[in-house]
Amino acid sequence: MKNKGRLFVISGPSGVGKGTVCRMLLSRNDDLKLSVSATTRAPRSEDTEGVTYYFKSKPEFEKMIEESAFLEWAVYNNNYYGTPLSALEEKLNQGISVILEIEVQGALKVMQKRPDAVSIFIAPPDEQTLFKRLKGRGTEGDEEILRRVKAAGWELSQKEHYDYIVVNDDLDTAVCEIEKIMKDEKEKM
Ligand code: 5GP
Repeated sequence: MKNKGRLFVISGPSGVGKGTVCRMLLSRNDDLKLSVSATTRAPRSEDTEGVTYYFKSKPEFEKMIEESAFLEWAVYNNNYYGTPLSALEEKLNQGISVILEIEVQGALKVMQKRPDAVSIFIAPPDEQTLFKRLKGRGTEGDEEILRRVKAAGWELSQKEHYDYIVVNDDLDTAVCEIEKIMKDEKEKM
């Protein structure tokens, strides 16, 4: 029988660079896939339906919650975000390893529900760097940035719950470190 794929949770505060880390991991590892989340937040210019997210209305998302369609879901910055369960299970059953790039509340839920998941916290070199990156990326308005900065304090305090903490100071070093973790964890299966 084919081995099941491994489930990797990559998480950390907004602005820490987890999106960039995940994109690089996916481009360098053909055997790794990203779980595409559903969200009620408005699409940004860089978003593509079904690629970056499935964009849902609030009632649509709430219906999916009722139907138990998510492995986990969370409210972040007044919007819902969730991991669709059936697509994830399908990939894992096909032997494909999957990354969930999700915020911290959702990651903690996955750790409880799926003890087999490998959780990786991407940490900033220091808090000042994180806030500078968050303000500098220009994708959110001032109010949203402020909310994300506030959330980051609690998010950083949760890092000890993760299997691994990787500091994203140099992108390439962080990605190599995660690739090593993934290789070791796949060998443990
Ligand atoms: P953004 O709005 O910047 O795309 O994402 C906001 C936060 O939501 C990020 O930290 C991102 O990782 C997280 N996120 C994306 N998809 C999911 C999901 O399915 N579940 C949870 N809990 N968080 C998610």
